[in-house]
Amino acid sequence: MTLWLRHIALLLLALTAGSAQALEIRDGQWQQGAVIRGSVPPGTAITVDDKPVRVSEEGLFVFGLDRDAPASVTVTVKTPEAEPQVRRFDVKARDYRIQRIEGVPQSTVTPNPEQVARARKEAAMAWKARQKALERTDFMTDFQWPLTGIITGVYGSQRFYNGEPRRPHYGVDIAAPQGTTVVAPAPGVVTLVHDDMFFSGGTLIVDHGQGLSSTFIHLHKILVEEGDEVAQGQAIAQVGATGRATGPHLDWRMNWFDHRVDPTTLVGPMPDPEASAEQSAP
Ligand SMILES: [Zn+2]
Repeated sequence: MTLWLRHIALLLLALTAGSAQALEIRDGQWQQGAVIRGSVPPGTAITVDDKPVRVSEEGLFVFGLDRDAPASVTVTVKTPEAEPQVRRFDVKARDYRIQRIEGVPQSTVTPNPEQVARARKEAAMAWKARQKALERTDFMTDFQWPLTGIITGVYGSQRFYNGEPRRPHYGVDIAAPQGTTVVAPAPGVVTLVHDDMFFSGGTLIVDHGQGLSSTFIHLHKILVEEGDEVAQGQAIAQVGATGRATGPHLDWRMNWFDHRVDPTTLVGPMPDPEASAEQSAP
Protein backbone atom coordinates (compact mmCIF):
# COMPACT_ATOMS: atom_id res chain seq x y z
CA MET A 1 0.00 0.00 0.00
CA THR A 2 2.74 2.46 0.98
CA LEU A 3 4.61 1.39 -2.15
CA TRP A 4 1.55 2.27 -4.23
CA LEU A 5 1.34 5.69 -2.60
CA ARG A 6 4.99 6.27 -3.35
CA HIS A 7 4.43 5.30 -6.95
CA ILE A 8 1.56 7.73 -7.24
CA ALA A 9 3.58 10.51 -5.61
CA LEU A 10 6.46 9.92 -8.03
CA LEU A 11 4.08 9.86 -10.98
CA LEU A 12 2.55 13.18 -9.88
CA LEU A 13 6.03 14.69 -9.49
CA ALA A 14 6.97 13.54 -13.00
CA LEU A 15 3.76 15.04 -14.41
CA THR A 16 4.28 18.42 -12.76
CA ALA A 17 7.93 18.50 -13.87
CA GLY A 18 6.84 17.66 -17.43
CA SER A 19 4.28 20.43 -17.64
CA ALA A 20 6.62 22.99 -16.03
CA GLN A 21 9.08 22.35 -18.86
CA ALA A 22 6.52 23.46 -21.43
CA LEU A 23 7.23 27.10 -20.63
CA GLU A 24 10.75 28.36 -20.09
CA ILE A 25 11.28 31.99 -19.23
CA ARG A 26 14.72 33.35 -19.89
CA ASP A 27 16.16 35.47 -17.07
CA GLY A 28 12.82 37.23 -16.76
CA GLN A 29 12.74 40.25 -14.50
CA TRP A 30 9.09 40.28 -13.57
CA GLN A 31 8.81 44.01 -13.01
CA GLN A 32 6.93 46.86 -14.66
CA GLY A 33 8.50 47.79 -18.01
CA ALA A 34 10.31 44.45 -18.39
CA VAL A 35 10.93 42.53 -21.59
CA ILE A 36 10.10 38.85 -21.06
CA ARG A 37 11.66 36.27 -23.38
CA GLY A 38 11.34 32.53 -23.44
CA SER A 39 10.64 29.32 -25.26
CA VAL A 40 7.98 26.67 -25.57
CA PRO A 41 7.85 23.46 -27.62
CA PRO A 42 7.33 24.32 -31.32
CA GLY A 43 3.66 24.47 -32.24
CA THR A 44 2.62 25.80 -28.83
CA ALA A 45 0.29 28.81 -28.55
CA ILE A 46 0.70 31.41 -25.80
CA THR A 47 -1.57 34.10 -24.46
CA VAL A 48 -0.62 36.76 -21.93
CA ASP A 49 -3.65 38.05 -20.06
CA ASP A 50 -5.76 36.51 -22.83
CA LYS A 51 -3.90 38.31 -25.62
CA PRO A 52 -2.10 36.05 -28.10
CA VAL A 53 1.70 36.36 -28.30
CA ARG A 54 3.55 35.41 -31.44
CA VAL A 55 5.66 32.24 -31.21
CA SER A 56 8.42 31.53 -33.75
CA GLU A 57 8.76 28.22 -35.60
CA GLU A 58 11.42 27.19 -33.07
CA GLY A 59 9.11 28.09 -30.18
CA LEU A 60 10.70 31.43 -29.19
CA PHE A 61 8.61 34.33 -27.95
CA VAL A 62 8.88 37.81 -26.48
CA PHE A 63 6.45 40.19 -24.83
CA GLY A 64 6.62 43.38 -22.83
CA LEU A 65 5.14 44.63 -19.58
CA ASP A 66 3.84 48.20 -19.49
CA ARG A 67 5.16 50.96 -17.25
CA ASP A 68 2.03 50.62 -15.11
CA ALA A 69 1.48 46.86 -15.55
CA PRO A 70 -0.79 45.28 -12.89
CA ALA A 71 0.59 43.23 -9.97
CA SER A 72 0.35 39.91 -11.80
CA VAL A 73 0.31 38.48 -15.30
CA THR A 74 -1.35 35.24 -16.42
CA VAL A 75 0.42 33.24 -19.10
CA THR A 76 -1.53 30.42 -20.76
CA VAL A 77 0.35 27.78 -22.75
CA LYS A 78 -1.56 25.52 -25.13
CA THR A 79 0.13 22.56 -26.77
CA PRO A 80 -1.85 20.62 -29.37
CA GLU A 81 -1.98 17.44 -27.20
CA ALA A 82 -2.16 18.62 -23.59
CA GLU A 83 -4.58 20.61 -21.46
CA PRO A 84 -3.83 24.36 -21.39
CA GLN A 85 -1.34 25.21 -18.70
CA VAL A 86 -2.00 28.43 -16.80
CA ARG A 87 0.76 30.18 -14.85
CA ARG A 88 0.59 33.37 -12.86
CA PHE A 89 3.62 35.59 -12.38
CA ASP A 90 3.89 38.39 -9.86
CA VAL A 91 5.02 41.70 -11.35
CA LYS A 92 7.11 43.96 -9.14
CA ALA A 93 5.85 47.55 -8.97
CA ARG A 94 8.46 50.25 -9.59
CA ASP A 95 8.92 53.66 -8.08
CA TYR A 96 9.26 56.22 -10.82
CA ARG A 97 11.18 59.43 -10.39
CA ILE A 98 10.10 62.95 -11.06
CA GLN A 99 12.48 64.75 -13.37
CA ARG A 100 12.50 68.46 -14.13
CA ILE A 101 14.19 69.59 -17.31
CA GLU A 102 14.81 73.25 -17.93
CA GLY A 103 16.17 74.93 -21.03
CA VAL A 104 14.65 72.90 -23.86
CA PRO A 105 13.41 75.01 -26.78
CA GLN A 106 10.01 76.34 -25.61
CA SER A 107 8.47 75.50 -29.02
CA THR A 108 9.01 71.79 -28.20
CA VAL A 109 7.06 72.23 -24.94
CA THR A 110 4.17 74.29 -26.34
CA PRO A 111 4.22 73.55 -30.07
CA ASN A 112 2.01 75.54 -32.44
CA PRO A 113 -0.76 73.74 -34.41
CA GLU A 114 1.50 73.30 -37.41
CA GLN A 115 4.18 71.68 -35.26
CA VAL A 116 1.57 69.49 -33.56
CA ALA A 117 0.41 68.27 -36.99
CA ARG A 118 4.00 67.58 -38.00
CA ALA A 119 4.72 65.66 -34.79
CA ARG A 120 1.55 63.57 -35.28
CA LYS A 121 2.59 62.64 -38.80
CA GLU A 122 6.03 61.63 -37.57
CA ALA A 123 4.58 59.58 -34.72
CA ALA A 124 2.45 57.72 -37.29
CA MET A 125 5.60 56.92 -39.30
CA ALA A 126 7.28 55.49 -36.20
CA TRP A 127 4.11 53.56 -35.32
CA LYS A 128 4.03 52.02 -38.78
CA ALA A 129 7.70 51.01 -38.57
CA ARG A 130 7.08 49.29 -35.21
CA GLN A 131 4.17 47.25 -36.58
CA LYS A 132 6.47 45.52 -39.10
CA ALA A 133 7.39 42.98 -36.42
CA LEU A 134 9.61 40.92 -38.70
CA GLU A 135 9.84 37.15 -38.39
CA ARG A 136 13.22 37.28 -36.65
CA THR A 137 14.39 36.05 -33.29
CA ASP A 138 17.18 38.58 -32.66
CA PHE A 139 15.33 39.46 -29.45
CA MET A 140 16.86 36.34 -27.83
CA THR A 141 20.38 37.85 -28.12
CA ASP A 142 22.35 38.96 -25.06
CA PHE A 143 21.84 42.69 -25.57
CA GLN A 144 24.73 45.13 -25.09
CA TRP A 145 24.72 48.83 -24.30
CA PRO A 146 24.73 50.93 -27.51
CA LEU A 147 27.46 53.06 -25.94
CA THR A 148 28.98 53.70 -22.51
CA GLY A 149 28.41 56.94 -20.62
CA ILE A 150 26.69 58.52 -17.69
CA ILE A 151 22.99 57.73 -17.37
CA THR A 152 21.10 61.02 -17.06
CA GLY A 153 17.53 59.83 -17.52
CA VAL A 154 15.74 56.58 -16.78
CA TYR A 155 12.61 54.77 -17.92
CA GLY A 156 9.27 55.80 -16.52
CA SER A 157 10.17 59.16 -14.93
CA GLN A 158 7.40 61.71 -14.72
CA ARG A 159 8.72 64.66 -16.68
CA PHE A 160 8.34 68.39 -16.43
CA TYR A 161 9.78 70.40 -19.33
CA ASN A 162 10.45 74.07 -18.59
CA GLY A 163 8.11 73.57 -15.62
CA GLU A 164 5.24 71.99 -17.57
CA PRO A 165 4.14 68.38 -16.96
CA ARG A 166 4.50 66.13 -20.01
CA ARG A 167 4.35 62.41 -20.78
CA PRO A 168 6.62 60.09 -18.82
CA HIS A 169 10.08 59.45 -20.20
CA TYR A 170 10.30 56.02 -21.77
CA GLY A 171 13.94 55.68 -22.69
CA VAL A 172 17.32 55.59 -21.02
CA ASP A 173 19.40 58.72 -21.57
CA ILE A 174 23.13 58.30 -21.84
CA ALA A 175 25.22 61.48 -21.95
CA ALA A 176 28.06 61.45 -24.50
CA PRO A 177 29.80 64.04 -26.67
CA GLN A 178 28.25 64.83 -30.04
CA GLY A 179 29.53 62.41 -32.68
CA THR A 180 30.08 59.48 -30.27
CA THR A 181 29.42 56.18 -32.05
CA VAL A 182 26.20 54.32 -31.28
CA VAL A 183 26.32 50.58 -31.94
CA ALA A 184 23.48 48.12 -32.45
CA PRO A 185 22.66 46.54 -29.04
CA ALA A 186 21.50 43.37 -30.84
CA PRO A 187 21.10 42.30 -34.47
CA GLY A 188 18.09 43.48 -36.41
CA VAL A 189 16.73 45.24 -39.48
CA VAL A 190 16.48 49.04 -39.85
CA THR A 191 12.81 49.94 -40.27
CA LEU A 192 12.97 53.74 -39.96
CA VAL A 193 15.51 56.48 -40.63
CA HIS A 194 14.50 60.11 -40.21
CA ASP A 195 16.97 63.00 -40.04
CA ASP A 196 14.82 65.48 -38.18
CA MET A 197 11.64 64.67 -36.33
CA PHE A 198 10.04 67.47 -34.32
CA PHE A 199 10.44 65.95 -30.84
CA SER A 200 13.02 63.24 -31.40
CA GLY A 201 15.34 64.83 -34.01
CA GLY A 202 17.47 62.26 -35.83
CA THR A 203 15.52 59.03 -35.30
CA LEU A 204 16.40 55.42 -36.04
CA ILE A 205 14.37 52.25 -35.43
CA VAL A 206 15.84 48.74 -35.47
CA ASP A 207 13.49 45.74 -35.47
CA HIS A 208 14.70 42.76 -33.37
CA GLY A 209 11.78 40.53 -34.38
CA GLN A 210 8.24 39.67 -33.27
CA GLY A 211 7.39 43.22 -32.28
CA LEU A 212 10.48 44.07 -30.23
CA SER A 213 12.27 47.16 -31.56
CA SER A 214 14.88 49.67 -30.43
CA THR A 215 14.46 53.38 -31.13
CA PHE A 216 17.43 55.76 -30.96
CA ILE A 217 16.69 59.48 -30.88
CA HIS A 218 18.31 62.95 -30.83
CA LEU A 219 20.93 61.57 -33.26
CA HIS A 220 23.46 63.80 -35.00
CA LYS A 221 24.02 61.41 -37.89
CA ILE A 222 22.56 58.05 -38.97
CA LEU A 223 24.98 55.61 -40.62
CA VAL A 224 22.52 53.00 -41.93
CA GLU A 225 19.53 52.94 -44.28
CA GLU A 226 16.02 51.52 -44.11
CA GLY A 227 16.07 47.82 -44.92
CA ASP A 228 19.70 47.34 -43.80
CA GLU A 229 20.40 44.29 -41.71
CA VAL A 230 22.66 45.25 -38.81
CA ALA A 231 24.93 43.06 -36.70
CA GLN A 232 25.29 43.39 -32.95
CA GLY A 233 28.01 45.94 -32.19
CA GLN A 234 27.86 47.52 -35.66
CA ALA A 235 28.15 51.34 -35.76
CA ILE A 236 24.69 52.62 -36.67
CA ALA A 237 24.63 56.31 -35.67
CA GLN A 238 26.29 59.22 -33.89
CA VAL A 239 25.12 60.95 -30.71
CA GLY A 240 23.55 64.38 -31.12
CA ALA A 241 21.23 66.92 -29.47
CA THR A 242 18.53 67.20 -32.13
CA GLY A 243 14.81 67.61 -31.30
CA ARG A 244 13.66 68.24 -27.70
CA ALA A 245 17.07 67.97 -26.01
CA THR A 246 19.24 70.24 -23.89
CA GLY A 247 22.58 68.68 -24.79
CA PRO A 248 24.17 65.76 -26.63
CA HIS A 249 22.99 62.36 -25.38
CA LEU A 250 21.59 59.12 -26.68
CA ASP A 251 18.00 58.28 -25.79
CA TRP A 252 17.50 54.52 -26.29
CA ARG A 253 13.91 53.37 -26.23
CA MET A 254 12.34 50.00 -26.69
CA ASN A 255 8.92 48.89 -27.82
CA TRP A 256 7.00 45.65 -27.96
CA PHE A 257 4.47 46.77 -30.57
CA ASP A 258 2.73 49.77 -28.92
CA HIS A 259 3.95 48.91 -25.45
CA ARG A 260 6.86 50.98 -24.24
CA VAL A 261 9.30 48.83 -22.32
CA ASP A 262 12.56 49.45 -20.51
CA PRO A 263 15.65 48.52 -22.58
CA THR A 264 17.79 48.35 -19.44
CA THR A 265 15.91 45.20 -18.37
CA LEU A 266 17.83 43.46 -21.19
CA VAL A 267 21.36 44.64 -20.35
CA GLY A 268 23.50 44.43 -17.23
CA PRO A 269 24.66 47.49 -15.31
CA MET A 270 26.35 50.21 -17.38
CA PRO A 271 30.04 49.28 -17.62
CA ASP A 272 32.15 51.73 -15.65
CA PRO A 273 34.64 53.19 -18.15
CA GLU A 274 37.14 53.88 -15.34
CA ALA A 275 36.87 50.38 -13.93
CA SER A 276 37.52 48.82 -17.31
CA ALA A 277 40.49 51.15 -17.85
CA GLU A 278 41.92 50.02 -14.50
CA GLN A 279 41.39 46.39 -15.41
CA SER A 280 43.19 46.71 -18.71
CA ALA A 281 46.10 48.61 -17.11
CA PRO A 282 49.23 46.45 -16.74
ZN1 LIG B 1 15.49 61.01 -23.19
